[in-house]
Amino acid sequence: MSPARLAKGCNTPAAHAVVADRHEARPESTPEELAVIRVFPRRTKWTPTDELAFIGEPPLNGFRPADRKMPCAVSCTFTWDISEAKRLAQSWSRFYDHVSWGGPARDDDSGDFVAGRFIKLGVTITSRGCLKRCPWCFAWRREGEIRTLPIVPGRIVQDNNLLACPRRHVEAVFDMLAGQRAVVFSGGLDADLLSDWHRELLETIRYSEIWLACDRRGSKSSLIRAAGILAGISTEKLRCYVLIGFGEESLSEARRRLEWVYSLGFLPFAQLYRGMKAVAYLPEWRALARKWSRPALYRTKEPARD
Ligand code: SF4
Repeated sequence: MSPARLAKGCNTPAAHAVVADRHEARPESTPEELAVIRVFPRRTKWTPTDELAFIGEPPLNGFRPADRKMPCAVSCTFTWDISEAKRLAQSWSRFYDHVSWGGPARDDDSGDFVAGRFIKLGVTITSRGCLKRCPWCFAWRREGEIRTLPIVPGRIVQDNNLLACPRRHVEAVFDMLAGQRAVVFSGGLDADLLSDWHRELLETIRYSEIWLACDRRGSKSSLIRAAGILAGISTEKLRCYVLIGFGEESLSEARRRLEWVYSLGFLPFAQLYRGMKAVAYLPEWRALARKWSRPALYRTKEPARD
């Protein structure tokens, strides 16, 4: 899932128009675009690792830029980190004159994607928004209607819903991906929209992970259809986000859905629903999510089948 989104999901009808369509290639990031001190409340697997990216408090003098005039941006992805982001902005203001805080948690209108600025190098985002309105998801609330962006090279595709983009944009993205190794569709491919021509495009690139989603019981039929289109691809490469803890679903229902996804030939990745605030889940929910987010834990046992 992208930092802006709580979980992937592909269940609501496609009903909204693409409001912009730009599929030209964008050059690599310029030095000016990256000459910003970036501060993050916590490290995630997406956090940049360059010398201007920091986690938490300012380090001692000598371990941070000396120039007070350098812009400094505190980037907040999760709503439950907002107070910490504000506190960090204050803290960094002691050393820099131009400190701001923003990011997905502030519902910022994300502009064009700049590789390596707020997400580590290698990740690309070629569109924003989504045409669906899944109730657990922040993507459409924050970014609105789907729109394409200039295509920045990268091997990890983190679009909210790439397949909802116009065909020529999707094809242009695959043209870019043809020059990449170990492509990962971590933003997810929408099982509702997956078609045979997508499978043909997949055959033109070197991918290592294809992510889909099964976020509620009603997603099953789409995932079965998608499994047919993706037939023959190794289970090692087929991953599936499974949102649990949303709505009225019981623990046993969530477990059965995870087991069902596994039995269909996907490696599930359980995601506990968190909403606007961090939810205090009972230990059994946390244990379920922990087990089903680590293939090494659940692959040792034969999955139950419905
Ligand atoms: S990105 Fe779109 S399809 Fe995916 S969960 Fe959000 S609204 Fe649903």
